[in-house]
Amino acid sequence: MRAWPTLDLPTLTDVFPDLELQSSYSNKTITLSQSKCSMYVCGITPYDATHLGHAATYLTFDLIHRYLLASGKKVHFVENITDIDDPLLERAERDHLDWVELAEKEIELFRSDMTALRVLPPQFYIGAVESIPDVISAIEIYQSRNLTYVLDGDVYLSLKRIPGALENLPVSYSEAIEIFRQRGGDPDRPGKEDPLDTVLWLSKKPGEPFWSSPYGDGRPGWHIECTAISLKYLAPMKGDEDSQLRSIPLITLQGGGSDLLFPHHYMSSVQARALRGREFSTLYVHAGMIGLDGEKMSKSKGNLVFVSKLLSDGVDPMTIRIALLRDKYSHDRMWSNDLLLSAESLRARMIEALAQTHVVSTDTLRKEIISALSQGLNTEKVFHALEDWLQHNIQAKADERVESSGVIARFLDGLLGLTF
Ligand code: ZN
Repeated sequence: MRAWPTLDLPTLTDVFPDLELQSSYSNKTITLSQSKCSMYVCGITPYDATHLGHAATYLTFDLIHRYLLASGKKVHFVENITDIDDPLLERAERDHLDWVELAEKEIELFRSDMTALRVLPPQFYIGAVESIPDVISAIEIYQSRNLTYVLDGDVYLSLKRIPGALENLPVSYSEAIEIFRQRGGDPDRPGKEDPLDTVLWLSKKPGEPFWSSPYGDGRPGWHIECTAISLKYLAPMKGDEDSQLRSIPLITLQGGGSDLLFPHHYMSSVQARALRGREFSTLYVHAGMIGLDGEKMSKSKGNLVFVSKLLSDGVDPMTIRIALLRDKYSHDRMWSNDLLLSAESLRARMIEALAQTHVVSTDTLRKEIISALSQGLNTEKVFHALEDWLQHNIQAKADERVESSGVIARFLDGLLGLTF
């Protein structure tokens, strides 16, 4: 799948300590000291436009991506797009559209939203449809290890047969079943070995698209898609037999919105471990949800705010970027008109400051921003520091403005993706 255009990043000469981030399941702080990092971020299901919750998630991982690059690391970044799944087929049927055309239209809109928001593209942007051969190969391995069973043509992975899979759930077993039910799982289906078993291959249903496989015509399950794509592009089969490498997880970071914590990311990691005998990821990072004016934003409530709508209303993409980045990424946050206005005010003051050839020194500001980002991506501190510096710059006498404004402009462009 084609991604969106890449951006030229300015070279920054500041000193960057290794990034520290808290891992979602263990709550441990992990320092990314390795020189090569592999990052897998779960993408959208293209049945609707990019809403602010999506944007906040992809901006979070863009910030991580930019920090790792600025600190001299090599980053392998892969993102998927679930271009075949129930919500896409349901929306296409509801709106009397061809599912392929609907997906293509929404994928193109997503690309233009990501481009406008200056999100760096992944090296590999992979669709579920193009990953079907990799899903089939993975299922063959599970089958050869007797980890699967078939229910009316649908192939399931048996969690009971994978050591630790049901013992290390991030929530209690009963909560897991409830969340699984809410998020597209089928815990109540009669005949399952365990209610939490995940479907690897769904048999062909009347009127639905299908692909041929050794298990009959059908389509892949959701969780296995991400396992197959991440391992193929970030951790190809090598080193599994090497006893030193076996203790190192297959990838550095798996990320997405906090609604993917369970079951999606948990199941991806169980599946990866069952395939390769190694832990899946060093770090799991989840971005909080975005609400609207005190309420949860959701498609069922009909209160989703779309990036493309804000842009067509004339909101500058950098205003959206500031508004979504200025609070801690892991917290659930609210979108409001006040937030938008305050971000717009900061953007306007930055434009005014950077329109001058010289500004007051940014040495301390840049150090503060780097330090705040390095310690768990503390963007609240970043924007406080920026506000303080702006205030100082406005009040300063002309002869105190001794630094070329290009220094901070390049820094904010490279590290925060902000251009003014
Ligand atoms: Zn995923």
